[in-house]
Amino acid sequence: MNFPSNFIRWIEIIYTNISSKVIINGALSDKIEITRSIRQGCPISMSIYAVIIEALACKVRRNNNIQGIQIPNHNTNVKLFQHADDCSIISTNLTDYEKLLEEFKQFGLVSGSKINENKTEILKIGNPNTKNYGSINKLIKDEIKVLGIWFGKNAVEINWKKKYYGLIQQIDKWKKRKFRYKHKVLVLNTYIISKFLYTARIYIELLNRTTITKQYKDGGQQVPDIKLKCEALLLYRITQVLTGNSSVWTSIFIYFIGITTRTILPKLAENMYRHSVVTIGQYERLKCIYLKYQSNIILNKKSFKDVYLQLLEFNNVINKIEILYPNVNFQHIWINLQRVNNMYIRDFIYKVVHMILPTGAWLSRRKFYRQTYKCSYCNKHVETLEHLFTKCVTLTYFRTLVCSIIQNEKNYQNFSMNTNTCILFNIDIDLFPYIYGYVHSIWACRYMPVEEHLSEILMLKYYKDELLYKQLNKSPTQ
Ligand SMILES: [Zn+2]
Repeated sequence: MNFPSNFIRWIEIIYTNISSKVIINGALSDKIEITRSIRQGCPISMSIYAVIIEALACKVRRNNNIQGIQIPNHNTNVKLFQHADDCSIISTNLTDYEKLLEEFKQFGLVSGSKINENKTEILKIGNPNTKNYGSINKLIKDEIKVLGIWFGKNAVEINWKKKYYGLIQQIDKWKKRKFRYKHKVLVLNTYIISKFLYTARIYIELLNRTTITKQYKDGGQQVPDIKLKCEALLLYRITQVLTGNSSVWTSIFIYFIGITTRTILPKLAENMYRHSVVTIGQYERLKCIYLKYQSNIILNKKSFKDVYLQLLEFNNVINKIEILYPNVNFQHIWINLQRVNNMYIRDFIYKVVHMILPTGAWLSRRKFYRQTYKCSYCNKHVETLEHLFTKCVTLTYFRTLVCSIIQNEKNYQNFSMNTNTCILFNIDIDLFPYIYGYVHSIWACRYMPVEEHLSEILMLKYYKDELLYKQLNKSPTQ
């Protein structure tokens, strides 16, 4: 393989007289001399293994007695797919299997590695006659697992059901903890979506989307949109074809999708390549998605993330709150919101701006039970954000006090407390501590059993919240 002799010497040094120890319950075991195979957990192991196993793969590829399968538009027959120490062979006749076993045995004699025949499984594709298979028949399974994904008869169900119950367990575990949006998205991305996306490359199911899937700059929380992520994954695969990357997968792709979607590549229309008469399964879906987006997104040499962002942009639905207030510049509000460092405070303001704090009115619209839907301060009007922050008569004095602080201390002479300033936060970032202090103290003190001195108590809470904001969001203007 033409490795430099220096490199080979280094590997020899690393692998001469080596031993390992195992930690069991915190205690180190005795030395284990390593006389064969590679070290477990060593970063170079994978590469060494790949180099060794490649020798076997080369030998199989060169063996003209093994047929493998022909892939349209691909120069050579494909005989095996090697996934680390897991080897998959696709074949159309039985002799291939025997010849491959022979190759494995020969390889074993030289390298000391053995094929584990007990772990060998066969999946029938289509309906081949297996009467003469003899002892091999017992190796035939309804489903087999390759790289963590099941293929075969009930593959879709097995793949998703397992993932689904795993997911429920995971979510139950995380549910017990109190998280901010940012944490939730992190957990979703790291522990939950990752598992699903992997399977989704092969088997796709659809889920719903909401406002929170939008990017921060558009007033969202960047919660991954599963449906769009799946579509982006499929679209991203087309990039391979567009960039002329010639792998087995490109050939398979062209074969199954080419004739029906010539628009992907003009040269597909020239009938230079063989094409399947029908598009199958995943490719059919891929084609539909591609046709849906082809004129609206750019696919050439883009990253997966870029494709996803383009899909988000294309499927953009205007936020409810932006429809309600069409004359307000929300872009500026969303940018300001991103500059709030503290996650608790940011989430709170986010909920105020989107008007999703669970007020009495909000709860009654969603048929939640609460003793009264009236404002707990005045006990007269229905509790809405607008009422609490801009209208409630009981809070007039408190409102005036805070307003005068902003007008005088901060030199915003024309400032007034209204929906635009106190709910939509359509204000300078400098004023965020004051408005946050104001709305948060009203919200937090709603059910305090106060008869007298309401304004004093609210003012105390206000100063506390304003100070807290400043401490937790140092230099918010930078
Ligand atoms: Zn009121």
